[in-house]
Amino acid sequence: MQFISKKARAVTPYTAGEQPRGAQFIKLNTNENPYPPSPRVKAVLDAFDPAGLRRYPDPASGRLRAAIAQAEGVSPDCVFCGNGSDEVLALCFPAFFGADEPACFPAVTYTFYDVFAHLFDVPFARVPMREEFYLDLDRLADTPCKGYLIANPNAPTGVGIGREEMAAFLARVPEKLVILDEAYMDFFGQSCAPLIKTCRNLLVVKTFSKSYALAGIRCGYALGDPALIDALTRAKDCFNSYPVDALCEAVCAAAVLDRDYYAGTLARVREERERLRGELLALGFTVPESAANFLFAGRFKADGGTLYRYLKEHGILVRFWDKPFLRDFVRITVGTREENDALLAALRALAAG
Ligand SMILES: *Cc1c(COP(=O)(O)O)cnc(C)c1O
Repeated sequence: MQFISKKARAVTPYTAGEQPRGAQFIKLNTNENPYPPSPRVKAVLDAFDPAGLRRYPDPASGRLRAAIAQAEGVSPDCVFCGNGSDEVLALCFPAFFGADEPACFPAVTYTFYDVFAHLFDVPFARVPMREEFYLDLDRLADTPCKGYLIANPNAPTGVGIGREEMAAFLARVPEKLVILDEAYMDFFGQSCAPLIKTCRNLLVVKTFSKSYALAGIRCGYALGDPALIDALTRAKDCFNSYPVDALCEAVCAAAVLDRDYYAGTLARVREERERLRGELLALGFTVPESAANFLFAGRFKADGGTLYRYLKEHGILVRFWDKPFLRDFVRITVGTREENDALLAALRALAAG
């Protein structure tokens, strides 16, 4: 149709994981938390006065930024908030990259980065992995670019890089911006957020969707030098002045300060992750060690597509990408013990069949 821009015709959007309504599936496909959010969230929702919705929210998300700053031990002018960390990552492209300012990321990583790069006409280099599953930090450091997008722990492999190793990488590339997507970092506990005070080339991006069990509220944030935060704010204000709504701000400000509650649910997820990985390895799957709340599992009996369809027929949703390398695997979110047991029962039946 002639009304559609060339750009809109040419882009291949990101394909989000299936979100079926109702409870017909055990849902292990989009890395949601199997446990509920902090009880403080319910208290905020119960006390929320709808009259407040008459007005626009604070464009600077001041209350939420103050709460995040307190939780992260940084100053509020080092915090930027957005409508999901996907939006924060998208705004990084106009804020930090351009036609002659290329981005760089690992060959196996979050598939949203190349979508953003295409949309914003940012050229990019993809750096091959080391032994299939591991980031090659030496090759990343040697690749000419304006900056990096690095998911740590990585998606969809779950492989994590410790803070010291990442700090050494940051020191090697002081003239390049390093955007660390720490969507799963709370399951690993090696955040580079404390380094923003000393590393001016570091931007850490986090989300409320995974560890905070608030995927439905759509909130994410970035931590970095105030000059980086200012660039993100300028990009935001060219697009949507109020990405964080009033309800979201109140809910997330309460959740981010409830460290004690989340320490308990994080520990349960990690414990189940190790149990599930052990069982999958025993069945004969290839599963790299995961630092996140999911496992990248495959090379067992069938390709990832066949596994995905088999599990769906058995009422279990996992994530599958029909792309080179990825198509040998599925990504399985760590669920509750009962959910993981149902998955294992279906896989044992497949192994026996
Ligand atoms: C889930 C995820 C995000 C972001 O999610 P939002 O829900 O938009 O905050 C970002 N990066 C990675 C690698 C993810 O898996």
